[in-house]
Amino acid sequence: MKFFKVLKKDLKTNARVGRLVTSRSIILTPVFMPVGTKGTVKAAKVEDLYELGFKIILGNLYHLYLQPGIEVIEKAGGLHRFINWKESILTDSGGYQVFSLSKIRRVYDEGVEFKSITDGSSHFFTPSSVIEMQCRIGSDIMMVLDECISFNKDYQYTLSAAQRTLKWARLSLEAKKSISLTRDSKIFGIVQGGFIKEIRKYCAESISQMDFDGIAIGGLSVGEERALTMEILDFTLNHVDREKPSYFMGLGDPLGVLEAISYGIDMFDCAMPTRISRNGSAFTTYGKINIKKSIYTYDYNPLDEKCDCYTCKNYSRSYLKHLYKSKEILSSILLTIHNLYFLNKLVENARYAVMKGCYEEFVRNFKRNYTNNADNKKH
Ligand SMILES: [Zn+2]
Repeated sequence: MKFFKVLKKDLKTNARVGRLVTSRSIILTPVFMPVGTKGTVKAAKVEDLYELGFKIILGNLYHLYLQPGIEVIEKAGGLHRFINWKESILTDSGGYQVFSLSKIRRVYDEGVEFKSITDGSSHFFTPSSVIEMQCRIGSDIMMVLDECISFNKDYQYTLSAAQRTLKWARLSLEAKKSISLTRDSKIFGIVQGGFIKEIRKYCAESISQMDFDGIAIGGLSVGEERALTMEILDFTLNHVDREKPSYFMGLGDPLGVLEAISYGIDMFDCAMPTRISRNGSAFTTYGKINIKKSIYTYDYNPLDEKCDCYTCKNYSRSYLKHLYKSKEILSSILLTIHNLYFLNKLVENARYAVMKGCYEEFVRNFKRNYTNNADNKKH
């Protein structure tokens, strides 16, 4: 079966429903992918993820390389067997982490040298070494190494980082071709180019011409205003090959997800939904709430009355507040289940709305409720 097929396009926006087929899973898009950076989606067991309906999660090469190490995972029989996950895994190359976490790093045309955040030891990633490592751990969808730059870099800096990213993209494809795989694995290119449209266009067209299975949009949501993120995203998507799936790296808030879908994004990931779960926050139909607030002390309603997740079916806000205040581990577990369910349901409803031809109306309704400032209202 073809890796990606568009099943239905929205008439008024660029939203679409599609299907990804990996050697392990059939995945409907738009899809939200929970982040399992170190080989675990924090506070969720794989059984929870299956039950919530997830078919693909993320792993991060940078973290897995440093701990436990590629060899440990390879000898376990690959990442899937190591973490006991039977569906698909997309692995991030670690480019973003090298550039954001490592204070000491040096970029060369051949790759990037960095010091470990855990013990200060020196390491060198090249475009071909990160592909080779992703193959060794059995990734279903691999990402290329790219040079991520911070917000507001000047034209020359942005251009040279983009050119290096394109050069690395070509080397990544060559590296993948030279490796014989026992199981089919896909590879995505990444469009960089900062916030300069001319460079974004150049990158988007160059990556589209290469033999990638999908196209990721990188370098957005790095501290800029949301309106600028969306302007650059919309612009970039107009210059990529629309036959391939498009992936927005690092976006996971409900309103952002729905807007990006309307520009044509098919795949998302973000650590935020699981991170806020550990801080006592929850998405609800009427906006984000924080369970630690005193208004929830005697509130015996579920987190979200419109939600059918395990947490909402069985527990009250009052109890969840108590768990959070008592620093009980169950607090993170129950909120993670709810927040992941909420996002999965959101993209499912988005797919349904596209199929029915009412995506704009669906977004309008969702937005009206969601911006209702739930923490200050009783429902
Ligand atoms: Zn729920």
